[in-house]
Amino acid sequence: MTDTGLDFTRRAALGMLSGAFAAAAARAEQAKMQIGETDVLIVVDVQNDFLPGGSLAVPKGDEVIAPINALAQKFAHVILTQDWHTPRHASFASTHSGKKPFETTALRYGTQVLWPDHCVQGSRGAALADALDIAKAELIIRKGYRADTDSYSAFNEADRRPTGLAGYLKERGFKRVFCAGLATDFCVAWTAQDARGAGFDAAVIEDASRGIDTQGSLAAAWEAMAKAGVQRINSAAIA
Ligand SMILES: [Zn+2]
Repeated sequence: MTDTGLDFTRRAALGMLSGAFAAAAARAEQAKMQIGETDVLIVVDVQNDFLPGGSLAVPKGDEVIAPINALAQKFAHVILTQDWHTPRHASFASTHSGKKPFETTALRYGTQVLWPDHCVQGSRGAALADALDIAKAELIIRKGYRADTDSYSAFNEADRRPTGLAGYLKERGFKRVFCAGLATDFCVAWTAQDARGAGFDAAVIEDASRGIDTQGSLAAAWEAMAKAGVQRINSAAIA
């Protein structure tokens, strides 16, 4: 039996369709963000105390580790941040008599959310997660090490004093900062917004971050980040 006209038409149509799919797939790949020498991944606070079982566990905080390890492979340059508090730090509820975690208090730089004791310098809780596999990280920036000052952001302490990170990144020639880690609505959000404030392009990788979400903080953080011009992306958007 020979091909009928119908079979031929159908085969031709299928051929054109698969060509169109291939072209669309190629375009989608090209549309992904290409990572280069002026891009840096900042992995925020992936520390034991912020993981399940830690003193200030972020819900599902451990779920950031696999996507972050994968992302780190795509970046030539990665830096890590580490929350690094003194004992009896001003951000700990236990430091303020009559205060409980997640209440607030007024400190000299404004309203401070009070947390359970966490990430005390040198403690097991302050250590980076064992499963974090980023040996090539070029810098670990510690923050919140002054007893009277918290620091959600890796760029500026809570009283807005610079940590030196903007200077470091500028001197290294970085232009674009990608943030992931813990917690989306605090240290990740503040770091990304301050990156914008320091003149960098900034993106937060949502699937590689998890939030605490206390009293609407997660929605508020996304809104503030959008306003600051921080891009909200997923790992899949990166080539
Ligand atoms: Zn802290």
